[in-house]
Amino acid sequence: MEPKRVVPLAVPDVDPADVRAVNEVLASRYLASGKTAETFEREFAERIGVRHAIAVSSGTAALHMTMIAAGVRDDDLVITSPYSFVASSNAILYERGIPVFVDIDPETLDIDPAKTCDAIETLVHRRAGWQHLLPRTCNADTNVLRAVLPVHLFGRPAELRDILDVAHRNHIPVIEDACEALGAKADGVYAGAFGDAATFGFYPNKQITSGEGGMLVTNDDAWMRLFRSLRNQGRSSDPEWLRYERLGYNYRMDELSAALGLSQLRRLDELLQRRESVARLYSKLLANLDGVSPLAAPRRDMTTSWFLYAIRLAPDIDRDHLRQRLADRGIASQPYFWPIHLQPFYIERFGFRRGDFPNAEAAGRSMLALPFGPGMADDDVAYVCDAIAQEVEQARETAPMMRS
Ligand SMILES: *Cc1c(COP(=O)(O)O)cnc(C)c1O
Repeated sequence: MEPKRVVPLAVPDVDPADVRAVNEVLASRYLASGKTAETFEREFAERIGVRHAIAVSSGTAALHMTMIAAGVRDDDLVITSPYSFVASSNAILYERGIPVFVDIDPETLDIDPAKTCDAIETLVHRRAGWQHLLPRTCNADTNVLRAVLPVHLFGRPAELRDILDVAHRNHIPVIEDACEALGAKADGVYAGAFGDAATFGFYPNKQITSGEGGMLVTNDDAWMRLFRSLRNQGRSSDPEWLRYERLGYNYRMDELSAALGLSQLRRLDELLQRRESVARLYSKLLANLDGVSPLAAPRRDMTTSWFLYAIRLAPDIDRDHLRQRLADRGIASQPYFWPIHLQPFYIERFGFRRGDFPNAEAAGRSMLALPFGPGMADDDVAYVCDAIAQEVEQARETAPMMRS
């Protein structure tokens, strides 16, 4: 039987102004590489508080170019989080680098700052046991640490101060994956304005969307010129027609995407506020529900820019069973994320095993993302929370029987 009500996982908010902006570009017949993307870049850089923004075709494309800028080549090392969307680590592999995963903090789900600092020093100074930080299948002696790539997970700012200190003291660039964190802030600074470069993604479930699309930001003039060249087939910046200085890509953003992204950026405060109020309502309605915990609030002087709303389930709740029961009621939900090191391709290539990063694995087993978006109606949130309350109770009642 089809459920009467359907609550999807994520729906982007597209308003009449967004539609008008895209239609205007379409009517202009100016569809690629133009003024709209330039305006989007300028306003984005101003908003984040960085000198340069470079519009690109996806967040993944942005990540790839940061790895090139950091000089990642064969068997070079990049420290990153195993608990993320696979794109953050794949970008390292595009340049034939090796991901060095550092486990997350179980509370924040972001990369553990103290362990990250320790890993930087251990790898740079070849301290005892440095090889043990590398994946099992990597035994070259020449591996050099080229970058640190922390991820601001679920819109919660990663704690970067100590990581920046230690990395920069050792001349290692820090690249922020801020693809889930547009508008997040720590100590008055936007996520994306801390590192040597940062990446944003505008897929329809993100804080703002351009369809597909992304943005690179940096304060470094040389990196800005490199990114502009790389996204455009490696073309030189001088106006002479069609001279190519390096291997480049087509990572440009088209004008239709830029028009949507720009229009959404101008509504960012409204979109973030509405995300925040949906998240607040969830947290209120799920409070005191045994076996279900919302993510802990960030520390003082930190603001989350709600990418999604995920709950942590107690170990005695059968997540698959719960998901199925929610689906029967028309409610979508998604385990977020299965750790990168345990993805089949990563196991095969790097020899990772269960138990390598226990905190990431525990999160991978217990986290469940619920329907979420800026346009979500209060009574849909209430419907989801009621369903969870009922089904969780049942899942726990049946759990002891299932075990015996
Ligand atoms: C969305 C996302 C990206 C980029 O995704 P694209 O689909 O390529 O825009 C990168 N990293 C993380 C953590 C993401 O959530």
